[in-house]
Amino acid sequence: MLDSMSVKVEDKLYQNRYKVDEGRPHVCIAPHTVPEEVLLTLVKVCPAGCYQRADDGTVEVIPDGCMECGTCRVLTEGTGLLDWNYPRGGYGIQFKFG
Ligand code: SF4
Repeated sequence: MLDSMSVKVEDKLYQNRYKVDEGRPHVCIAPHTVPEEVLLTLVKVCPAGCYQRADDGTVEVIPDGCMECGTCRVLTEGTGLLDWNYPRGGYGIQFKFG
């Protein structure tokens, strides 16, 4: 139960801003050659909801809003599924604390 001093995670995340680097996504997904469980986990664990299940059963990534937490990178380490890089300077997440 939330008291009057509590703040929801969604409200805190809404304070952040994201600058999209048009045409240069910093996370790309390769044609899938990994177990289904990994794909489903990607959809579930990304705190920014960047991974979505497509109609054809594959998983797509739209890194707009990515918080650069690295969870997906660690999860897929050694699979070759992701090409993960930090955004170029001036782009990506801009955290607002407080
Ligand atoms: S780094 Fe974190 S926020 Fe960004 S796409 Fe991966 S899991 Fe989502």
